[in-house]
Amino acid sequence: MELHRANSRQTKQASADNFTGVVLQDPVIVGKAPSRMRATNVSFTPGARTAWHSHPVGQTLYVVSGVGRVQLEGEQVQELHPGDTAVIPPNTRHWHGSAGDRLFTHLAMSEIDDQGNGTQWFEHVSDADYSATPAPVK
Ligand code: MN
Repeated sequence: MELHRANSRQTKQASADNFTGVVLQDPVIVGKAPSRMRATNVSFTPGARTAWHSHPVGQTLYVVSGVGRVQLEGEQVQELHPGDTAVIPPNTRHWHGSAGDRLFTHLAMSEIDDQGNGTQWFEHVSDADYSATPAPVK
C-alpha cells in the first residue's frame, strides 16, 4: 500500500487565476491509472470562492465544516452545511465557496475523463452573483 503521511505534504494556496480570495488546499489523493480519482480538502476563507468551472465527469463535494455556497449556472445559490453532499453533474458550469462571513471546508472529489481531462476553468464569479440570497434550506 501507499501511505501518504500528513507531515509529508504541505497546504497550498489556490491560484488567483481560478479562485477569488484566500483558498487553501490540502491534497488527499491523485489516483494512479487505472484509478481516475482526485480528492482535495479545500478551505475557503470568508468571501472566497472558485471561479466558474466545470468537471468532465462531475464532482462530489462533502462539507466538513463551516457554512458554504454552491451554484449551478442558471439555478439559485444553495447554502451548504457540515454533512451535506452536493453532486455536480458533468460539464456543468458552477462555483462553490464560503458564505460571506464564514470559514468553509469541503472535501472535493472528482475523476478525469477517458482522455485524461480534468477541470475546465472560466471567468471569476462576480460579487453580485456571489452575494445572491441563497435558497431556503429545507
Ligand atoms: Mn467544482
